[in-house]
Amino acid sequence: MEKIRTLRGFRDILGEELGKFRDIEEAFRKYSTRLGFRQIELPILEKTELFVRTIGDATDIVEKEMFTFIDAGGDSLSMRPEATAGMVRSYLQEGLYATERLTKVCTIGPMFRHERPQKGRYREFHQIDVEVFGVKEPLIDAELIFMIRMFLDELDISRYHIEVNSVGCKTCRESFRGILLEFFATRKSELCEDCLRRLEKNPLRIFDCKNQQCIRVTADSPLLFNSLCDECRDHFDLFQKYVTGFGIKIEVNKRLVRGLDYYTKTVFEITSDDLGAQKAFMAGGRYDDLVEEMGGPATAGIGFAVGVERLAMLMPQKTEEPVRECFFACIGDRAHDYLILLLKACSSEGIPLKYSYEAKSLKAQMRYADNLKCDLVLILGDDEIEKNIVTLRDMTGKNQEELPLNIDHIISVLKNRLSP
Ligand SMILES: [Zn+2]
Ligand SMILES: [Zn+2]
Repeated sequence: MEKIRTLRGFRDILGEELGKFRDIEEAFRKYSTRLGFRQIELPILEKTELFVRTIGDATDIVEKEMFTFIDAGGDSLSMRPEATAGMVRSYLQEGLYATERLTKVCTIGPMFRHERPQKGRYREFHQIDVEVFGVKEPLIDAELIFMIRMFLDELDISRYHIEVNSVGCKTCRESFRGILLEFFATRKSELCEDCLRRLEKNPLRIFDCKNQQCIRVTADSPLLFNSLCDECRDHFDLFQKYVTGFGIKIEVNKRLVRGLDYYTKTVFEITSDDLGAQKAFMAGGRYDDLVEEMGGPATAGIGFAVGVERLAMLMPQKTEEPVRECFFACIGDRAHDYLILLLKACSSEGIPLKYSYEAKSLKAQMRYADNLKCDLVLILGDDEIEKNIVTLRDMTGKNQEELPLNIDHIISVLKNRLSP
């Protein structure tokens, strides 16, 4: 019969990679807790409208990449393609804006995008997501960069760039829109079909186009950065000053725009040349209008997401200390009864014990212990039980000794011998 396999772009995560995922999670928890963030678990499935209204209907994510379906009740639902939308929904639904002056929250989990799978990019991928609501001062922008820096240090990742830009506010964007329309009007014939549509709906999105021809056109375009209003310029200057104060080097990339509509002012990407064409593995920015646009009170917001798969690719290989282990070889029914007793004691003392589930010959069990690379083997057969002893064989030195058949004594010897 044909075996059932995972969907394209979906996969199992196990072994060394899963170990890295756990390390990432642990390092992230450490610094997010230190800076006052608390975790929220969000649903994976939400109303499609949530993503259309937050991310923007002219974005690639909403137009092409969401797993969207109509459920039995006739509602359009989507698997979350990112976490900010759900965080904003939760912030409003849980009424946090009414009870807290500022809210620092984070979440970790799978996201879903129907993209062409490529190296380090899957249709089900994992993100750490960090959001702050209620702080409009640029100090928080810098604090998030500081948190990212500590987090990457903890993971021994040092080869990366922090690229920053300001995409301005409504005011500066409105004046830039006119400049942009004027520019693209002269280059219309060079734009792809998608971009011609974007030109009507949201010309800023043309900067996201991956079409080489469009990239050449946008390379010549005027920059939003040069149209920033005074407030946005001051915000960006202060942000840079604070980041420098934290002792962190950033690079201003005036062409950096993020592929979502909701960003305002500061945006940033953490990139690595070790990742190939799509270099970003963390990205984020400010979204000062989003909470209000979603029906809440005017509340500043800022956040970032970490691509866990891509981050794991950047982590150095760990050399793990081998764990010393013990195998229990028991022959005969009476010895087998002792297995449960020993297993109970070892488990509560934190000693990993290996053994065979099947009643096998001593020779077979010793071969098995050798395969498992156990350092010690306890041997208990009828002879040993008669003499009220257990044989302890050291597999490295090949020497053996007899211990009294006393569980406390055995445990204390194992603890002693197995400690690294
Ligand atoms: Zn502005
Ligand atoms: Zn295009």
